Parts: sequence; structure tokens; C-alpha cells
Amino acid sequence: MKSLNSILVAIDFSDSSDKAFNTALFMAKKFSARLVLVHVINEPIDLRGFYVPHISFDKLEEEINAGAEKMMELFCRKHFEGFDNYESLIVPGIPYQEILAVAQDKRVDMIVLGTHGRTGLDHVLFGSTAEKIVRNSSLPVLTIRLSED
Ligand code: AMP
Repeated sequence: MKSLNSILVAIDFSDSSDKAFNTALFMAKKFSARLVLVHVINEPIDLRGFYVPHISFDKLEEEINAGAEKMMELFCRKHFEGFDNYESLIVPGIPYQEILAVAQDKRVDMIVLGTHGRTGLDHVLFGSTAEKIVRNSSLPVLTIRLSED
């Protein structure tokens, strides 16, 4: 890595990605780097843990997109007071694929993410998205573990 001009941080609104975000923001400030926030709306949509109303699939998709936009907006409003060197993106698809695609498209220098996410899947070492990104990324990847203490 020759320079650290931009950092992608993958956000799934879990405690783990919150911690990864805090580290990414700290680094962005320290190195005057741009922060690129990415949230991927899982396709097929993962509705575990969500209330699912009786509406058509198109309407449901619309509602989920609007919900994700709202969550991202609130997240940015809460965390970015006095910091404007960032952009936020919401994309549909398979999280690890989309995160790697945005990283390439935006030419970021590093990817930051949590070791675990909303699914709480406890693989041998990492959750699934983290593991696939670490295995497939040609960029440096920083994984942040949410410790219990
Ligand atoms: P997982 O591997 O799914 O347990 O999640 C590990 C980390 O990957 C999370 O802490 C997030 O930083 C990131 N991640 C997982 N799912 C998504 C998603 N849908 N959109 C953006 N980042 C995600």
C-alpha cells in the first residue's frame, strides 16, 4: 500500500460493524482519508429478525430499500458531525461481492469490516462475509473483532 487516501467500511448496522466503523473513522481522520460507507441489501433478502407485513414483493422491496436509506441517513447524521469527507452507498446483491466491487470501483486503499455481523454466525475464525472478503480481496483488509469486555 503506497498511500491511504480512502477507506471503505462495510456497514450492516450490527454492533460489530459499529466498532469497525469507529476504527475506520479514526483512521480516516488521522490520515485525512475519504471514508466510503457501504451497506448491501442482501439478495435474496434476509428477513430473519424483521417484521414482515402482508404486502406484495415489489412493495416489500420498496419498503426495505426505503428502510435501509433511512437507517444509513440516521447513522451518518449520528456519526459525522464535523466530518464531511465521506460518501455512503446502498447496493443490492451479495454482500462480499458488492463490497469488493465498490472497493474496486471507488479505488479505495483499504477495506475495514467486523469479524461478525448481524447473522451472528460463528465460523471457525470469521463470519461468512468477512471470511470471503479476506480470502478474495487484493487490497489490505482490516477486520475488527467485537470483544465481550
Ligand atoms: P458476517 O461475515 O456476515 O458475520 O459480517 C462481518 C462483517 O461484514 C460485518 O461486521 C460488516 O462489517 C460486514 N457486512 C456483513 N454483511 C454486510 C452487509 N449486508 N452490508 C455491508 N457490510 C456487511
